[in-house]
Amino acid sequence: MPQLDAVVRDIAEEMSRRDDRGEVATYIPQLAHVDPGQFGLAVAAADGSIACAGHSDTPFSIQSISKVFTLTLALGVAGDQLWKRVGREPSGNAFNSIVQLELEQGVPRNPFINAGALAVTDVILSGHPPREALGEILRFIRFAAQDDSIHIDEHVARSEKATGFRNVALANFMKSFGVLQNPVDYVLGTYFHHCAIAMSCRQLALAGRFLAHSGRNPDTNCSMISPERARRINALMLTCGHYDGSGEFAYRVGLPGKSGVGGGILAVAPSHASIAVWAPGLDPTGNSHLGRIALEKLARKMKWSIFGE
Ligand code: GLN
Repeated sequence: MPQLDAVVRDIAEEMSRRDDRGEVATYIPQLAHVDPGQFGLAVAAADGSIACAGHSDTPFSIQSISKVFTLTLALGVAGDQLWKRVGREPSGNAFNSIVQLELEQGVPRNPFINAGALAVTDVILSGHPPREALGEILRFIRFAAQDDSIHIDEHVARSEKATGFRNVALANFMKSFGVLQNPVDYVLGTYFHHCAIAMSCRQLALAGRFLAHSGRNPDTNCSMISPERARRINALMLTCGHYDGSGEFAYRVGLPGKSGVGGGILAVAPSHASIAVWAPGLDPTGNSHLGRIALEKLARKMKWSIFGE
């Protein structure tokens, strides 16, 4: 097996030289300022080592990657009852699409499209004021990463709140079907803030370890969720984690993964590693362009694809 450190270093070096970098998201004004020349990669391996290269300690906006952690929390709150509020099928549509919602009575296709994540946030809010729910989400991520310095970027949260008309529309539409139980403003405020959590690749790779190791943090040996739940979250990441680019990601990379419009991807190589990559430029499906290419190379070189060598 090739040396992980060397593979990670080589990939980061190759990615920093490429000039096909995709386009940074501009619909959230604060994200439009991010330099697309950056690239970071961190791989937290099963033996407790972590291989990092490039801008792996630069915090970036995790955006929809936060939906993996909110899904984990909501399953803890509601268990399988969650699946009455949101489905488990790929949508085949863009992350912020509204078209299916009317046909399917306001029940979103899966927890990773925006509509589904709003339903998940609504479940976490049940019985809590938004500030407490947000505190719970942040505490969970800090605990998973074993890092209390992880924080919310208030500029990004405000920027999205000021321009998130489509999410406002989605939430109101779902509310009209009775799918959201809390006030729309509470759901949106909590959602915008958890999307605005800033993390580096190193922190994100550490936070994802429980998904690579049957729900356990291999460092502390602490069980965060059951093996069955970890397996199922991975299945959803594989089938829905890249929206209408999920098939292409499975075909090329072969790992469960969740992307965000900040250009990050959290990928899971079961039993091997938790991987975080960040390259701010996106492809037309809103997924990191170089992030996907880097993961494709890493999975091939390490023979980590879940579909075989
Ligand atoms: N906060 C972003 C939004 O709601 C998240 C989208 C994403 O990362 N794909 O539009």
